[in-house]
Amino acid sequence: MIDMQGVYKTYPNGVIAINGIDVTIEQGEFVYIVGPSGAGKSTFIKLIFREEKPTKGSITVNGKDVLKLKWKQIPYLRRDIGVVYQDFKLLPKMTVYENVAFALEVIGETPKTIRKRVMEVLDLVGLKNKARFIPDELSGGEQQRISIARAIVNYPKLLIADEPTGNLDPDTSWEIMRILEEINAGGTTVIMATHSKEIVNTIKKRVIAIEDGLIARDQHRGEYGYEV
Ligand code: ADP
Ligand code: ADP
Repeated sequence: MIDMQGVYKTYPNGVIAINGIDVTIEQGEFVYIVGPSGAGKSTFIKLIFREEKPTKGSITVNGKDVLKLKWKQIPYLRRDIGVVYQDFKLLPKMTVYENVAFALEVIGETPKTIRKRVMEVLDLVGLKNKARFIPDELSGGEQQRISIARAIVNYPKLLIADEPTGNLDPDTSWEIMRILEEINAGGTTVIMATHSKEIVNTIKKRVIAIEDGLIARDQHRGEYGYEV
């Protein structure tokens, strides 16, 4: 699913965010990315969906050489990747339904297909009855569930979540994890950056620890934690 070889990323201001990473992630895996603030976790994630370009190295995602993609081809890469953020990034003036339908409208699906699929994913995240609400009328956990619905509406092969429970209380965080596990059980690869020791140590998965732009640890059913 993802293959990185000899990857480096130096930002224009001279900061070395990724300092030589080799890693392979298979289709269907669930991987936690842990590490201290500033370690390079977000940069690592952004390299996967070409939000950032590496300074050096090769990155293949879902069979595509991410570096060789022309500007016009990037949307096709992103169609295979759903992204969930800590702060949800929902469109505030649109309803829940519209927030989720949007991703299908831009690729020109028929209204009938859109309606069916949107209600299907809202059902999956348990929010079918809130389709007409706007994000402000929902709790943080509900907003995150909407952002997950939006991320998966297009059947992506890969779901990336950058601290998806960072703004949520513990009970709500477990609900979000249950949904992410269900999505993963359906065959979608899930990559999740997190600071939650409790989640990582309870729902055991592969753990990749990034420190100073390097992979400090890569463990099957690993534990939370890092050196500094
Ligand atoms: P990032 O650099 O990934 O954006 P932040 O520094 O914004 O991370 O931290 C996100 C949240 O995680 C904050 O609430 C912060 O207090 C918490 N956090 C940061 N480092 C740790 C840690 N080592 N263990 C547990 N929680 C942490
Ligand atoms: P993490 O997600 O682990 O907190 P980041 O990938 O966000 O780490 O950041 C790694 C390093 O790169 C940090 O020193 C950060 O300040 C720097 N950095 C991140 N984004 C940029 C940017 N757009 N321009 C310059 N420096 C950046």
